[in-house]
Amino acid sequence: MKDKLMLMLPGPTPVPESALLALARAPMGHRSKDFTAILEEVSENLRWLHQTHSDVLIFSASGTGAMEAGLVNVLSPGDRVLCGVNGKFGERWADMADTFGLQCERVETEWGVPYDVDTFRSKLEADTEKTIKAVILTHSETSTGVANDIESIAKSVKAHGEALTIVDGVTSIGAMPVKMDEWGLDIVASGSQKGYMIPPGLGFTAVSERAMHVAKQAKLPKFYWSFDLAKKNLAKGTTPFTPAVNMIYALQVSLAMMKAEGLEAIFSRHAQLSAATIAGVKALGLKLLVQPESAASPAVTAVWSPEGIDADKVRGVLSKQFDIVTAAGQDHLKGKIFRIGHLGFISPRDVLMTMATLESALNTVGYTDFTAGSAVKAAADVLANA
Ligand SMILES: *Cc1c(COP(=O)(O)O)cnc(C)c1O
Repeated sequence: MKDKLMLMLPGPTPVPESALLALARAPMGHRSKDFTAILEEVSENLRWLHQTHSDVLIFSASGTGAMEAGLVNVLSPGDRVLCGVNGKFGERWADMADTFGLQCERVETEWGVPYDVDTFRSKLEADTEKTIKAVILTHSETSTGVANDIESIAKSVKAHGEALTIVDGVTSIGAMPVKMDEWGLDIVASGSQKGYMIPPGLGFTAVSERAMHVAKQAKLPKFYWSFDLAKKNLAKGTTPFTPAVNMIYALQVSLAMMKAEGLEAIFSRHAQLSAATIAGVKALGLKLLVQPESAASPAVTAVWSPEGIDADKVRGVLSKQFDIVTAAGQDHLKGKIFRIGHLGFISPRDVLMTMATLESALNTVGYTDFTAGSAVKAAADVLANA
């Protein structure tokens, strides 16, 4: 049905009407006083969201651009880095590191299983020559619905003393705590179409003082992504190049909404949505990809399709019959799992509706091994006790 689309995706995520209306405003000059005032407000709110006193730089880019900015500003060709890989986005980091000629050591666990914190610790402890320049991590691994324990790994990096901690926070920022300063994270990259509740188009790279300092010596080439240029301009309330002015209007609105809700409330809402989704799918006899369940990401839940049933058929019914869009499995998980996003502008109502329609879609594709209404009831029980 026209205009009825409901995005239960881990990005792009639904956008509130007030942010959409902000996008429709006429653009203003990006060197104007009015625009500087907006940029200063959003920069302050971005620091709040990242729980940091450092700068959060804004790029007109998708999240991957913000990640690339994070790499090229603080590293030099041939630098040794550790890359945590347990899903598609960890692989992206490692591929990027290879592309830029870094000496990338993959620290892998199976897709669905969180990083092994001890492996990172022992590799860092063994590096007495301090050859490891960065530890590159994905906080919420969107391809599998796993939240990695980056807080613990960052502690080992701190103890190492030389390496920087570089984090993909794309589906953790705005969904779960990312305490940049307290945990000692040096780079946190994210993108607007996830927890920020606005369309794709902006990338954010938060940069610690230490990373800014390291950036002065780093030799990988950069121009558009230069931290130095971005930081100098931000200090004057402007940007080096023409920013996506209208996207920044929308960002101003969505950050104000987030501030009004409050960080703790945002995180507990996501935790509840995740718990309700998990309870719902389990009540249907379906299994989660994440192992153990305590490592589930509050942003997205990856679910094994019932034995013998193509996950994309389930997704197809959800989409065609109910206009609900869910995400597919990637690579070897294609057709095996489906992923339900519950990130950003998502409320309990959306999760209950997804559970009800999922029951119906499963029926349609021939899986009937559950009591009608059980997913809705299980999810509703979680939400009622929240
Ligand atoms: C969405 C996402 C990205 C960024 O993807 P873009 O398409 O470049 O915005 C990176 N990492 C994770 C974990 C993501 O979920």
